[in-house]
Amino acid sequence: MINKDRLRERLLELAQIGGNATDGWTRLAFTKEDKLARGLVKGYMREMGLKITCDNAGNIIGSYGNPTNSPVIAMGSHIDTVPNGGMFDGALGVISALEVAQTIIENKLNVNYPLEVIIFANEEGSRFNNGLTGSRAICGSFSQEELQIEDNNGISFYQAVQEMDLNPDKVYEARAFENKYKHFLEIHIEQGIELEKEHKRIGLVNSAAGQVVLKCTIFGRPDHAGAIKMTQRKDALVEASKLITEIQQISLKMGGHFVATVGKLNVFPNSINTVPGNVEFFIDIRDISSDKLNRGIEVISNTISNISGEFSYFLEEVENELPAFFSSRLLDLGKEICEKKNYPYKVLSSGACHDAQVMTTITDSALFFIPSINGLSHCPEENVHWEDVFLGAEFLLEMVLNASE
Ligand SMILES: [Zn+2]
Repeated sequence: MINKDRLRERLLELAQIGGNATDGWTRLAFTKEDKLARGLVKGYMREMGLKITCDNAGNIIGSYGNPTNSPVIAMGSHIDTVPNGGMFDGALGVISALEVAQTIIENKLNVNYPLEVIIFANEEGSRFNNGLTGSRAICGSFSQEELQIEDNNGISFYQAVQEMDLNPDKVYEARAFENKYKHFLEIHIEQGIELEKEHKRIGLVNSAAGQVVLKCTIFGRPDHAGAIKMTQRKDALVEASKLITEIQQISLKMGGHFVATVGKLNVFPNSINTVPGNVEFFIDIRDISSDKLNRGIEVISNTISNISGEFSYFLEEVENELPAFFSSRLLDLGKEICEKKNYPYKVLSSGACHDAQVMTTITDSALFFIPSINGLSHCPEENVHWEDVFLGAEFLLEMVLNASE
């Protein structure tokens, strides 16, 4: 029933902002590219007659029906990306949600609750090393201190929000009133290979991994790369490399769902002919069990504390997202729909964090996947089959209609 052409065209139109298939897409939160993309999706909302609200956390909310009369069924995702990311991460969920809402409006389908499409601000968090801020502001778990975090150019989150013509002093006003939402539904690309491997087309997500990000700074000594002998150096990067290798070994031993990644380093002074004096690196640690996550963090922290005596270090936690369990009621409904419609499905957990996970703290929330080709994501090669995009949107529409009964 959904309009496949419109769905595809809008995804392609959004993909014209901030990148291309060679370099990938870079629409970091609150940048010029993000602003352009936000303008585009607001245009779609206007076209379909949604009432548009933009809160001071940067979330764009398109509503249909009156939310003060009864709880709202909301759908949504994000349009910001990681640097050089793919064209479907987040965008798929936003454009699919808009398509589902438009299908309902155009066909006058019966929904017993007001609808909302939420475009969450700054989900990825690449710019400030701090993500999910839009959904956390809605759920009341965004803290004022986060406004002071700076990006690589020294621009604070506070300033970045101001540059979007929003008022950062009123971010707290984004918080949803109690029991505002009946359900929240998000569709997303899997970013893994489970569905493709088993030829399934819909992933029903039962849980999502918790994520802790540690920032470790190693202090050595900067020296001239020619004048100082190898034995006289305190090379912070060499020391950091040893730790990074150990973190990999620890994670392999932890096994199961446990993963730890060092994907970002800042080397000072970052000069060809200077021995690295200081190094900052970020350790992204995840597991679906809180116990195991904490155990892993402890082992990693102990390993870092055993660093060679010539070096000092500083370790701090910069992000902490708890593991989440999605609504079993919506999961059962998802199974029912897949069985009735003959959609091959699989129940699975998510290693990645999503806004739907944050939304579990205030409402009955559900997350669904469509297959990623070769599991590729957060890269220019990220891809999906269009037939799966259409099926995902049909499924989301069924979910909304049935959850509304
Ligand atoms: Zn995403």
